Amino acid sequence: MRRPESVEKLYLDFDGFFASVMQQAFPHLRGKPVGVIPFPVEGRGADSTCVIACSKEAKAAGCKNVMSVPVARELCPDIILVPQRVDLFRRAHNALLNEIRCEIPIEVVKSIDEMACKLDKATSADPQALAARIKRRIAANIGPFITCSIGFAANRLLAKIACKVDKPNGVTIWHPETMPGPLLMRPMSDVPGIGQSMQRRLDAAGLDNMISLWNSQPKHLRAIWGNVNGERMWYALHGYDLHAQPTQRGMYGHSRVLPPEWRDLDHAQASSRLLLVKAARRMRRGGYFANKLWLWLGIMDQSGWSATYNLPCVQDDQACLRALGNLWDKANKQLPKRTRLMMLSVTLGDLSPANERQLDLLLNDDPQRKKCETITNTIDSLNQKFGKRVVTVGPWVTPPGGYAGGKIAYNRIPSAEDFW
Ligand SMILES: [Mg+2]
Repeated sequence: MRRPESVEKLYLDFDGFFASVMQQAFPHLRGKPVGVIPFPVEGRGADSTCVIACSKEAKAAGCKNVMSVPVARELCPDIILVPQRVDLFRRAHNALLNEIRCEIPIEVVKSIDEMACKLDKATSADPQALAARIKRRIAANIGPFITCSIGFAANRLLAKIACKVDKPNGVTIWHPETMPGPLLMRPMSDVPGIGQSMQRRLDAAGLDNMISLWNSQPKHLRAIWGNVNGERMWYALHGYDLHAQPTQRGMYGHSRVLPPEWRDLDHAQASSRLLLVKAARRMRRGGYFANKLWLWLGIMDQSGWSATYNLPCVQDDQACLRALGNLWDKANKQLPKRTRLMMLSVTLGDLSPANERQLDLLLNDDPQRKKCETITNTIDSLNQKFGKRVVTVGPWVTPPGGYAGGKIAYNRIPSAEDFW
């Protein structure tokens, strides 16, 4: 395994992405504490929802991303609540990527506001200058209210940790010859892959700080992780060049916080149909078939309800919606009629790639199934050609706040089709 002797990776993370995009787009929000909420609500109606992202001014008052509106209001009485604008976030994402690409090719887009690049000889010799060029270009061509933090290091994991050191609007360069000094000053929670449960396992193994983690052995971390990722973590922290393992898609899903007037079972069911159709459409674009459907309902003041349905390796809307109908029959039987729901999610999982589809022979001969697949493919191409949803299967009632599938998520960049 190679251990680079110079910085080879850049990691870039936009600062408070959603709130700063709103401030850039709407001048009256600039310099003010802003909280982004999932959908438009009037006055005190917002009390039943939560702030999903907040501006640095709101953070300075103690607000955090994902905080209930009453708590955020108590900490910051002047907070301005604005409904999310997913279309705007997506356009900002694409525009920002284009600006960065003018300076350096992007190796991987990690989320809506994070990406990584591989440096060449010239950029590696002067990372500071590259960071300055990227920041200057974004300020000039997109706007100065969207800022980013940049980390440079021997590999992507270290660059990502470095990126968090000097937020917001910082640049941190960890030259291999200066390591591990600056890394050992960071809390373990800064290491991607060490969440609360992994931290507990590490604590139990006596590795409760960065120095002991650094001084551990690869096989020891492998044992704690229970798989090869622990060993990979050790080599990455020690500055080795690791190649990311190809990830295989595991699922396609959507979730949504329900607007207050949509929290009964009937509206939730209508909402889940939209989410499922959108998830199924993304799955088809990805070339997969699903073997399982999950429905999860988040009930007010209680833990959730969930159920799964085994699918016979399908991707057409009709089969997915029929399975969803079955899950709702079960939900309606088990849950009291007046149940109030807060959130729901639908997920298509246990995926098979189109080229490995192991269809039951009987099923493959099923003319009804073939017909459904043809209809679904025809609907997809009509929608592709004429835009949006010229054809849908069954009713399509858009909930308040719109964009059933374009919910903001850090780990998935919505594509234009998700807004139909
Ligand atoms: Mg960010």
